Amino acid sequence: MKRIVFCGFRGTGKTDVGKIVAGKTGLPFLDTDTLIEQQTGRSIPDIFHEDGEERFREEERKVIAGLPKSGAVISTGGGVVTDPENMEHLRRDSVVFVLNADIDTIEARLSRKPRPPLTGLPLREEIAEMMDRRRQHYHAAADFCIDTSETTPEAAAGAVMDLLAKGTIPGQHRAPCISFFKTGRIPPKCMELLMKVLADNPPDPLTRLMGVAGYPCAHSRGPRLFNALFGHYGLDYHYTWFEDPELDEILRVARHLDVKGLSVTIPFKQEIIPFIDEVEEHAAQQIGAVNTVVFACGTATGYNTDWIGVRKPLVDLKGSKAVLLGAGGAAAGAAFALTDLDMDVTILNRTPAKAKAMAERFGCRWGELSDFDTIRPDVVVNSTPLGMKPDDLMPVSPDLLHAGMTVFDLVYTPPVTPLIEAARKAGCTTITGTEMFIGQAKEQFYLFFGIDVPGEKIRELL
Ligand code: NAP
Repeated sequence: MKRIVFCGFRGTGKTDVGKIVAGKTGLPFLDTDTLIEQQTGRSIPDIFHEDGEERFREEERKVIAGLPKSGAVISTGGGVVTDPENMEHLRRDSVVFVLNADIDTIEARLSRKPRPPLTGLPLREEIAEMMDRRRQHYHAAADFCIDTSETTPEAAAGAVMDLLAKGTIPGQHRAPCISFFKTGRIPPKCMELLMKVLADNPPDPLTRLMGVAGYPCAHSRGPRLFNALFGHYGLDYHYTWFEDPELDEILRVARHLDVKGLSVTIPFKQEIIPFIDEVEEHAAQQIGAVNTVVFACGTATGYNTDWIGVRKPLVDLKGSKAVLLGAGGAAAGAAFALTDLDMDVTILNRTPAKAKAMAERFGCRWGELSDFDTIRPDVVVNSTPLGMKPDDLMPVSPDLLHAGMTVFDLVYTPPVTPLIEAARKAGCTTITGTEMFIGQAKEQFYLFFGIDVPGEKIRELL
């Protein structure tokens, strides 16, 4: 029997709703705050007051790691979601409900039952500040969300029981969605698994769907990787291909199926922006492209993780002189990553006008591909697709590569491109497109589920 876990901000009703659900299911009820008090022999306000929040979080981590692995209803403290280790434990073989409420409701509830302050701010400001800070984490934690603002604990518990029995894919949407997938190019074995999730009487109505949205995207390694990660972390999800030339159609199906998330690939990374509710400000808005959408608590939020996949392998080369070859979609994320590392960047492209436009956006220099030999960069990043096909020309002549350079080819099929081979021969340090793929997938999984997968695990599963 799966565990039923409640997460959410203080005052959203986790304990009250959890106790009622425990009564209805006949499962034992456990509250992590109560377990911490029993384990330490001290009250939570005392731990906060005498030893501070970090000490409390340590005790919380211990309690969460020691929870029963099945057959229990668990209510958790409001901050558990921010710790990836906690999320790994809480999400395994469990269904996680995130309870929400509006700020007025939370303020009214907390005024009746004071809790230790988390900031020095007045109560209402503290609630607003902390909810904002934790929002992404609650979205990642949620298998399902329930708003408890305008409802009683009994009604919220009723909604939980309904979801547990029926899941969230309405019967009338199953058949049209099946037709959508049948027109795509999903391999037969994967189709068989998908059809089980979409059957009229699915073996498990709680299995959630997600996938990669693109056209074409049948070559994507996402389904294989994500489904392997779901098995590894005990997550009841299935990841598939949403391949269609029309983004409208993909999003219609994705919403009918109440997907938890989409990875977005060519040609939709820019096109998807007007369709989503929020776009993360720091990177995705600057880059102007979204490769990750998290659907949770009624909101679709767009992120860009591509730039993280470029930045991470180059982090020790801050301030270097860099050339970025290409000025397309992947180049925008790369330009953001390189400038974030304070590199002196020149963008070279077959169509120089596009290099100029991108350079102006990111504060870089620009030129034509033939300008390469005048620059003598420390770092070369290839974001053109040259190298994917056997008869492709090299994006830069091998004579211009020399020891001391770092050459990063974003192309990942084949895993070792002619550019990488030539760079190795010339004595350069090389980074393959697989490194970018691993970095962006790791961050994507964190945004979807709040779990921090080691890069090595992703490499092993690819
Ligand atoms: P894109 O938006 O189509 O941009 C392609 C860029 O390459 C454009 O600047 C284009 O120049 C240039 N280009 C195309 N063909 C060329 C040729 N024959 N000679 C010279 N320049 C050429 O594509 P993208 O989405 O940026 O993807 C680019 C590459 O990055 C792909 O190989 C993709 O697989 C790879 N990628 C890897 C990862 C990863 O995780 N490793 C993630 C994303 C993308 P013009 O402006 O002149 O057309």
